[in-house]
Amino acid sequence: MHSLLAALAFTTVWTGIALAQVKPAADLIVSNGKVWTVDKNRPRAEAVAVIGNRIVAVGTSAEIDAWRGARTRIVDAQGKLVLPGFNDAHVHFVSGGMQLDNVDLKDAATPEEFAKRIGERARITSKGEWILGGDWDDQGWSPPRLPTKEMIDGVTPQTPVFVDRYDGHMALANSVALKLAGVTAKTPDPPGGTIVRDAEGNPTGVLKDAAKSYVEKLIPPLTHARRLRAVKRALELAASVGVTSVQDMNPEYEDVMVYSELLDKGELTARIYAAPPIAGWQDQAKIGIRRAFGSSALRLGALKGYADGSLGSTTAYFFKPYNDAPNTRGLLSSDMHPISKMRDRMLKADAAGLQLCVHAIGDQAISMILDLFGEVARVHGNADRRFRIEHAQHMAAKDFARFARQKVIASVQPYHAIDDGRWAEKRIGAERIKTTYAFRTFLEDGVRLALGTDWFVAPLNPMLTIYAAVTRATLDGKNPEGWVPEQKLSVAQAVEAYTMGSAYAEFQEREKGSITPGKLADMVMLSDDIFRIDPRAIREVKVETTIAGGKVVYGE
Ligand SMILES: [Zn+2]
Repeated sequence: MHSLLAALAFTTVWTGIALAQVKPAADLIVSNGKVWTVDKNRPRAEAVAVIGNRIVAVGTSAEIDAWRGARTRIVDAQGKLVLPGFNDAHVHFVSGGMQLDNVDLKDAATPEEFAKRIGERARITSKGEWILGGDWDDQGWSPPRLPTKEMIDGVTPQTPVFVDRYDGHMALANSVALKLAGVTAKTPDPPGGTIVRDAEGNPTGVLKDAAKSYVEKLIPPLTHARRLRAVKRALELAASVGVTSVQDMNPEYEDVMVYSELLDKGELTARIYAAPPIAGWQDQAKIGIRRAFGSSALRLGALKGYADGSLGSTTAYFFKPYNDAPNTRGLLSSDMHPISKMRDRMLKADAAGLQLCVHAIGDQAISMILDLFGEVARVHGNADRRFRIEHAQHMAAKDFARFARQKVIASVQPYHAIDDGRWAEKRIGAERIKTTYAFRTFLEDGVRLALGTDWFVAPLNPMLTIYAAVTRATLDGKNPEGWVPEQKLSVAQAVEAYTMGSAYAEFQEREKGSITPGKLADMVMLSDDIFRIDPRAIREVKVETTIAGGKVVYGE
C-alpha cells in the first residue's frame, strides 16, 4: 500500500515534469502591452502567446513568459495599447487599390508637375494599358486654367491617357486617346456634354460630363496584372492601418481569383469575405457555396444587393421628399424594379444558404428591406441568417425595434457621418437627422453593429472611423462638440463593433474579433492609448505593428 502510494506520487511528479518539458514554445509573444482583449472573460491583459496562426495564451507578462522558447519572436509593446485586428465590414477593395495604383495628380501644383507625373507613369505603363484616375485640380494652378492634351502629348506618344478632374465631371484625354475615340473638330457635343475646343474648334482634350463617354467606352477592362497590383497595394495599405480582415462588397469574380492566387502564394495578408452582386446568386448557389464558406483567409457565401442610391445624389429613398429638392424622395435601385425581383432573389438565395447584405440608405428603402427580410424568415422559418443592411443611414424611428427583433445587423460607416453631417440637415431637415447615423440608438435597441468605411469612398484608416464615431465632429470643423451628439459611441463601443461586431457579421465570432486563446492571432499595436487620450486626437494615432495570423505584416 505504502509503496503503491509512493509510486503514484512519483508518477504524478514525473508526469508534471514531462508536461512542462513538452509544453511547446510560442512562435511569437507580445509582451508588456496594455492588451484590450474585447473578451468579457478577460477584458485586460499584458501579454499574448501565439503558436502558428493562433493565440494560445493571454495573461500577465510573467505568465506569458513561460511560453518563451529559444526561437520565440518577442514583440515588446512597451506599455502600448494592443487591440484585436480591425475588421472592416464594408470595403470595395480593388477599387481602393486601383485608386492607390493610379497616377496621383491631386497635388500637382503646376502644369509642369502635372505633365511630369504623367510622363513618369507612362514610362512604367505597359503597352495597351491606360493612364487613368488622377483627380487633378486646375483651381490649384495660378492662374487656374484647364489642362490640354499638348501639355502631355510629348511624354505620352504611345500611351492612351484619360485622367479625371477630382470631381469626376471632366477628364483630359491625350491625342492617343482622342484618336482611338475618333474625336475630332467635326465631332458634335453630345446631349449633356461638352468637348472643350480651342479657337480653331479643335478639341483641347478636356471632355465634360456626357462627352467623357466618347473615350470611356474604349477603356479596356482591368488586366490581370493591373488587378493583382491593385490588390497588393490595397493589402499593403490595410496592413499599415491595422486592418486584418475586410468584407469586400460587389467584387468581380476576377477579384476573387486574384485573392485566391495570393492566398496560394502566402501573400494574402488580410482575411477577405467576398460578397458578389446578388444578381449572380446562382453562381454560388449552384456549387453549394453557403454563408461564410471557405478558409479563415478567404471566404465566399454572401451576396450584396442595392435598395436605393445615396444622400449626396438625392437618390436615397425616403418616405417624405427631400427638404432641398421637394420634387423627389429618392429612387429605388434597379435591383428593386420590380420589388418582386428582389423578393424572388432573396428567397432563392436564402434557400441556398447564402447571406444577404443589402445597401439601404433612405428610411423607406430600409423599411422595405426589413419587410422583405421579414418575409423571407416567415416563408423559410427561423435560422441564424445574419441579414445585413449596409449603411442603414436614415432610420424611421418606428423601425429600430423590428431591426433588433429581426436580428438584422447594421453595417455602418461612421466616417460618412462626419462627411455628410456638413450638409445633411439642409437636405433632410432637423427631424430626420435625429435618426441619421443613429449608432447609439441601434446599440440601445439591441441591434448589432458592424463597423467599416466603404473604402475607397472613405479612408480605410480605422482611427478615422473611431474618431468619427466618438466625436461626430464634422469635417468642416463646424460641430466640434459633435453633430447629433446623442448618437456618439464610446471608444469601447466603437472598438467592439469594429472587431467582434464585424466578425459576427461574417459568422466568424468564434474565430476572430477578440484576443482570446484559440482564436486567430490578429492584433494591432497603437502609438497611443485611444481610451485615455482626448478623443479629438484619435485621428492622429498611428498603427505601429500589425500582426495577422501570427505574422508581423506591418511594423517592427
Ligand atoms: Zn459600398
